[in-house]
Amino acid sequence: MTQTPKRRTARVAGGFLIATFVGALGCFVGCSTPSDSSSSAPQQVTIPQERILDVKLDGSALKVIGAYVPQSTPTGVQPTPGPGTLDWTFTAADGTTVRGTVADGRTSESEFAPSGTSARAEVSQPWMVFSARVPSTAGTFAVPLTGASVSLGAVTQVSASAPVASDGSTLSPAPSGTDAPPDGVRKLRDSSATCPFNVLIVPEAFTDMGAFRTRAEQVANDIVTSSEYGTYASGFVFWSQDFVSRDGSIFDPGDNRAKSTAFGVSFGSGDPNSAERRIIYPRNALSDETTNRLRTGARYTKADIILIIVNTPEYGGVKSQFLGITYVTVTNNAQGNRVILHEMGHGLLSLADEYTDGTCDRSRVESPNTSARLDALPWKDMVTPSNPLPTPQGTAGVGAFEGAAYCTTGVYRPAHTCLMKELSTGFCPVCARQLRNVFGPRSSGGDAGASDAGGSDSGGGLVNGGDGGGLYNPGGSLVCPTRALF
Ligand SMILES: [Zn+2]
Repeated sequence: MTQTPKRRTARVAGGFLIATFVGALGCFVGCSTPSDSSSSAPQQVTIPQERILDVKLDGSALKVIGAYVPQSTPTGVQPTPGPGTLDWTFTAADGTTVRGTVADGRTSESEFAPSGTSARAEVSQPWMVFSARVPSTAGTFAVPLTGASVSLGAVTQVSASAPVASDGSTLSPAPSGTDAPPDGVRKLRDSSATCPFNVLIVPEAFTDMGAFRTRAEQVANDIVTSSEYGTYASGFVFWSQDFVSRDGSIFDPGDNRAKSTAFGVSFGSGDPNSAERRIIYPRNALSDETTNRLRTGARYTKADIILIIVNTPEYGGVKSQFLGITYVTVTNNAQGNRVILHEMGHGLLSLADEYTDGTCDRSRVESPNTSARLDALPWKDMVTPSNPLPTPQGTAGVGAFEGAAYCTTGVYRPAHTCLMKELSTGFCPVCARQLRNVFGPRSSGGDAGASDAGGSDSGGGLVNGGDGGGLYNPGGSLVCPTRALF
């Protein structure tokens, strides 16, 4: 389908946001062109002011796997330092240090028991892949938490397309959206929306890519025909990327037979009904080749979420992070599709969990659908007038039901039940409104960011971390928000 970007009038909020980001991120070291005396490259070109580094952290080993010139102004929101985040520093040759924060992707989390009720279990892996936007100058990149650092002294930006690593090798730049699709990447389902959400589906333990794509099409179809997201079917583009595995099943600690699969995903240990067993995740860092292929696929497709379809009928899966993008491992199990819909609530809609499990962190309970502020609920305009606050459990309508965001007391959710609380139900009215706010603009063609301007809801998605509609770019074109740095 042909997409015709349309110019639109800047909304005040959008313009402000852009200005804020440019001020915060647009220039690091005094905005001067860095001088470069360390490069011996014969053909030195003008040095861009910034580049994006893709970094693989494995234990205390840090490796820059790609470096390239940003294609656009960042439209996502950087995480704020705190629990669940990791800080990095970049120290330029002149001693100037810039700092950044990324979501700590070294945790894989499983949320639901096979019955569909919440049963959170976490596991730590030593590795993650993330991006950082740094000044385009020689320097040292470090993640102080692990003591890991890598000198970028020779990664001088002599060319926009082919940065050179300290060992002399060429770092692979990210693909441009106008390039031909990378090998094995296919568009399964298109959209005429201006800023649709891109879902990248990849296979684990599939030996037959035809069988994988059939399964991927089923998953895509299940999402766009679900009662939750069906109204916004045109807000999705689905992609598949082939990864061939030698073995057609994943490693099982129960039989301990070695397996060779694309992502090295394994069942957890424990008996078949245990929480540990269903934590299905890549135990070891992805190989450089797999990392690079997935990185290339995710960037090319501008993936907002990555689904790793694991070839087993047994229930299980986790969510984690790759390049700042939520990824979900999910099996060929019907209940797994409900998990996807829930995880998209996190990954695409910025919704919080409404269940309780005793791991309450009161500094992190405010979200569109959870709040400790009875007098200033984010959904106060939707409260059923006859409902008291707090609202007794089991009451119909919208109110403030105690118990949410893992806290049993003092934190409230909008309705007795919701997909963000258990898998067997749909979105509550408040989460449904969030879906409408975010997907409404992004499932329409043309004037993406402003299309819901007539409604009473807070507008085109600049709420809650830039999830929503397109942002006005002073240059005149519509910039669609992205999950990762591009
Ligand atoms: Zn809800």
